[in-house]
Amino acid sequence: MSGFFDTKIEYLKGVGPQKSAFLNKELNIFTFGDLIQHYPFRYEDRTKFHLIKEIPVDATFVQIQGKINHMELVGAGRRKRLVAYLSDGTGEVELVWFQGIQWVIKKLKKGVEYVVFGRPGIYNGRINIAHPEIEILTEKLDDGGYLQPIYSTTEKLKGKYLDSKAIFKLQVTLLEKALAQVVETLPEKVIREKALIPKSEALLNVHKPSDRKMLARALFRLKFEELFYVQLRLLKLKLTRFDKFNGQVFADTGLLNRFYHDHLPFQLTNAQKKVIKEIIKDLRSGHQMNRLVQGDVGSGKTIVAFICMLVVIAGNGQVAMMAPTEILAEQHFQSLKPFADSLGVSIDLLTGSTKNSQRKNILEELANGKLKIIIGTHALLEERVKFDNLGLAITDEQHRFGVEQRSKLWQKTKDVYPHILIMSATPIPRTLAMTLYGDLDISVINEMPAGRKEIKTLHKFDSHRLWVFGFMKKEIESGRQVYVVYPLIEESEKLDLKHISDGYEAVRRAFPKIQIGIVHGKMKSQDKDYEMKNFAAGGSKILVATTVIEVGVNVPNATVMVIENAERFGLSQLHQLRGRVGRGGDQSYCILMTNYKLTKEARQRIDTMVKTTDGFAIAEADLKLRGPGDLMGTQQSGIMDLLISDLGKDGIILEQARETARDLLRNDPDLKKPENLVVKQKMQAMQKKNELNWSKIS
Ligand code: ADP
Ligand code: MG
Repeated sequence: MSGFFDTKIEYLKGVGPQKSAFLNKELNIFTFGDLIQHYPFRYEDRTKFHLIKEIPVDATFVQIQGKINHMELVGAGRRKRLVAYLSDGTGEVELVWFQGIQWVIKKLKKGVEYVVFGRPGIYNGRINIAHPEIEILTEKLDDGGYLQPIYSTTEKLKGKYLDSKAIFKLQVTLLEKALAQVVETLPEKVIREKALIPKSEALLNVHKPSDRKMLARALFRLKFEELFYVQLRLLKLKLTRFDKFNGQVFADTGLLNRFYHDHLPFQLTNAQKKVIKEIIKDLRSGHQMNRLVQGDVGSGKTIVAFICMLVVIAGNGQVAMMAPTEILAEQHFQSLKPFADSLGVSIDLLTGSTKNSQRKNILEELANGKLKIIIGTHALLEERVKFDNLGLAITDEQHRFGVEQRSKLWQKTKDVYPHILIMSATPIPRTLAMTLYGDLDISVINEMPAGRKEIKTLHKFDSHRLWVFGFMKKEIESGRQVYVVYPLIEESEKLDLKHISDGYEAVRRAFPKIQIGIVHGKMKSQDKDYEMKNFAAGGSKILVATTVIEVGVNVPNATVMVIENAERFGLSQLHQLRGRVGRGGDQSYCILMTNYKLTKEARQRIDTMVKTTDGFAIAEADLKLRGPGDLMGTQQSGIMDLLISDLGKDGIILEQARETARDLLRNDPDLKKPENLVVKQKMQAMQKKNELNWSKIS
């Protein structure tokens, strides 16, 4: 597909240097190929019209036709607006413009039949549409029968007359020349078995659908192809690793059994047992383990990790466990040290703030093999950290590492790679996991330890603040502690700071005799640490904080989580925050504070939180509500280069694509067969592009 599709966009008829610069900058469109892959994000059915009297109040978009009876300028200054009254014989709507008024006045004519498209709203009890799309009813529209593609664009582009319609025109110009140049990118066998339409037909119909059926087939074809190649790349990585990367064999369970029988303070859940078995199997397989353990906050991942460490240590290996922050690393260290001590296994902590003398000692003992378990932060990845025999590397993942990055993290052992275990406390829906972690084996801890009390979640309006303060007071009086969390709302840090400072003042006024801590992103890290530790030690009873505490402090005595402006948080963030309480034996509460006015989506988020504490259910809901782009951590993963697929909606296509990719690799692991030549070429092209992107980033 090279050559033609690499042509600079500037050379497309109707573009030129000036518009080209804007397309580059605003939409990342540099070439013909980029433009043709700038797919519409939705289609408008211009074949149907609403009657004004039947416009549903909650419709996102409506299309109506009618005549303008009368126009007037209303208001003054910044509220000045043009209102046109349009009626279709069944009722009247107000069309409103705040900007470009002069231009609209010139263009609109009374008595002409218009087609109006836009998002309806209600103002003063009347239906209005602000800044609608409006055009004169034409024969073509009257005939109906066409789906209009809508392209994403930006305000800047619109200013350069590059709105959705203009982009559509460019697509039409491009398609005329491009279709003859399109080369098939999937093997014939796949096309046949999945009954896919040819690539060129798909490209034509995605931009200019001849009807709904063809549009559906075009979308399916393009999504399938996109997901197929993502999965193929991941599965190939997995396969290559399995073939090429041997793993040390660790099979001695003596130490594990001793711990299990003599020291383990509780019964493992069945889910924990199952996951431990899966890991132990990997450790003795002779291949490098690459496994993700997913489990909700509090499901007991740490002890699972520890138990598996024992198998490695019994086989004379060392273990490194990396956490995303110093606080978390320290917490892991504190909770594992008693276990390690009870077995006489050496364990230590290495972070950016480890003292030099101590660091020197740790580095020495890691290098000579005396130190068996090292817990730490990214400091563990530094060059000077050398191991005698690193057998297992565990990352408690907060930010997901990209696929390529992840495998580069631990090239620290002499001849073989260590086994890799990744632990994630962000439950991820299956479709997303298959893509984000598609090169890994996945274990799920889907069960909470027995006797845990489910956190009670309440939704309270701001007007119930007194009740909330009263509730906090009661809990504090019975010895518990409380978090009060504020969102980062504004672009401006100053406003955020003001927001949390005001909140802090309000809490202080309500609890004049109680020690209150405050933590936010603008504080020096040692001050932050001090406040966190003081709260953890029971010094302060209330901790007022921004989302920094999300990163995972464990204060079992904290039983109340108050989240201010809860409507501003995403679901997964709310869930993570809620997970900060309910860590001890006491009944815990999460109070979601909002004002009365909530969007439909915010309402759904709050309701979901009140209804369930199951992280996987919440993650599914989140994916459906927001799409994967906004889910935590997906930005860095590289998979969000998806141009047409939506992991929230295209799960079934994804499953099929993964299955097809797996079959193909099973049949032809090295892509050597002639019938898979197209696949090989496409993979190489993608690889090249990927490398290019990496070099751009670094
Ligand atoms: P997370 O999965 O969030 O990392 P942790 O490993 O920190 O969870 O475990 C949370 C708490 O639950 C810890 O205090 C841990 O000791 C305890 N725990 C873990 N497994 C069990 C179990 N099977 N029964 C009882 N308590 C457990
Ligand atoms: Mg944990």
